[in-house]
Amino acid sequence: MGLFDSLKSLFAPQAAGDPNALWLYVKCKRCGAPLAVRVDLRNELSADYESGGYILTKEMMDSKCFTLMRAELRFDAQRKITEQKMDKGEFITREEYETMTNDE
Ligand SMILES: [Zn+2]
Repeated sequence: MGLFDSLKSLFAPQAAGDPNALWLYVKCKRCGAPLAVRVDLRNELSADYESGGYILTKEMMDSKCFTLMRAELRFDAQRKITEQKMDKGEFITREEYETMTNDE
C-alpha cells in the first residue's frame, strides 16, 4: 500500500529534469504487479557495433511474487528505443502504471 507511495516520492525528484534517465514501466506476467525501473542512459547502455546503436539488458524483480523479469531494449545512435522485448513480464505505459499503483 504505502510502499508505492514512498517509492514514488523517492524517485520523483530524480525523474524530473534528468535527461539521462529513462523510465521503464513493466508488469509482472505472473501476478500482474506493476514496476517502475530507472535506467541511466549514460552508464547502462552497451554499444551495438552491428547496428551502430545501443543495447540494454535489464533485470528486475517485482515485490509481490519475486519473479525475475528480463528486458532487452535496442536503441539507435540517438538513444531512441527501436525495439523492446520482455521476458516474464510486459511493458505498460506510465499512465497504466500510475492507474495501477493509485488503486491501492
Ligand atoms: Zn509477480
